[in-house]
Amino acid sequence: MAEIRVEHLRKAFGDFVAVQDSNFVVRDGEFFVMLGPSGCGKTTTLRMIAGLELPTGGKILLGGEDVTMRRARERDIAFVFQLFALYPHMNVRKNIGFPLLAQGTPGIEIRRRVEETAKLLRIDHLLNKSVSGLAGGDRQRVALGRAIVRRPKCFLMDEPLGTLDTEFRDLMVHELRELHNRIRATTVYVTHDQMEAMSMADKIAVMNHGVIEQFGSPREIYDRPATMFVADFIGSPPMNFLGFGGGLSKGASEILVQGAKVAVPEVREDIAPADMALGIRPEHIRFDDGSKLRGAIYGTEYLGTTQIVAVETSGGIIKARVPAEIRLNAGDQVGLALSSARLSLFEKGSGRAVRTAIHDTVIHDGAAEVRHG
Ligand code: ATP
Repeated sequence: MAEIRVEHLRKAFGDFVAVQDSNFVVRDGEFFVMLGPSGCGKTTTLRMIAGLELPTGGKILLGGEDVTMRRARERDIAFVFQLFALYPHMNVRKNIGFPLLAQGTPGIEIRRRVEETAKLLRIDHLLNKSVSGLAGGDRQRVALGRAIVRRPKCFLMDEPLGTLDTEFRDLMVHELRELHNRIRATTVYVTHDQMEAMSMADKIAVMNHGVIEQFGSPREIYDRPATMFVADFIGSPPMNFLGFGGGLSKGASEILVQGAKVAVPEVREDIAPADMALGIRPEHIRFDDGSKLRGAIYGTEYLGTTQIVAVETSGGIIKARVPAEIRLNAGDQVGLALSSARLSLFEKGSGRAVRTAIHDTVIHDGAAEVRHG
């Protein structure tokens, strides 16, 4: 398996720039997810790594070797599209072994590797069955087997679970991650589904309009979003934004929001007066009668162990996730306390996070590594 290094990667289709100056490193054995809305440039990035699309600029290194100009078949990469694409007239053994046969691998070696792969996927008892009679989960496993039997340098997967219903998709998310833990193959996985990304990835790159807005572990991205776009795209419901004006000075640890003083993590930079936003996740808000940040209950969404409560404040709706036992009625006035250690501050114009005591890490660490490493 091999490390993938992408440096200043760019792709333009005529005047339209689909991917702008992307920098990231997928370490050997890592499960890396490219996450973002439709049209943000995920598939184009993946196709460039695969060698199916030539970049307009930048470099792609596979295991330290520059493969930017190499053809797809010279890169030793397995590209998994829809996991259902099997040869219906062949049995499981032939489906899994097909890529080896096409490479001219000797029959005895094919047999050994197919059996080893089937064991890994726990479908060795199905080897002589026809694929057309298989249940959905087993078909997916056969398709995966066909990709891993070649032992490529890395796997690229483009929304492989896109067409599945929710229940089956959850199962496959779990299985894919479990398989990854066993074979530790360098994997790049493209999805627009944040839950898939959060449950499978070691590292996530969140893309928007051809730009990687943040690169980091699921926890870093959730807890310390680098931009308002990331804060809004990840999390269900997404992060709340509360507007406030004025600037911020280095060392500040309190701001005024809707007439209430709110303690914030120590600010580590000076920001000239501008429209600002405080970002807070619903689960980091609790009810507190003593708080000056107040509003009326607008609606509740009961979720069993918790409930999402929408509170109408003078600055708009704020959603809080609170224990389900709390009894609430529409119109009740409540005070809201924000967990200052968990909130983020943003400059609204650029959307970028202000550097504070909890936002003081190098956010684009993959990009930084490319520049400095
Ligand atoms: P989706 O999940 O919808 O495929 P994506 O994030 O994977 O979204 P891409 O497929 O990478 O997005 O496309 C990025 C942008 O580039 C889109 O606006 C798309 O229309 C455009 N694009 C992709 N391929 C081409 C092409 N061959 N010619 C012109 N524009 C293209």
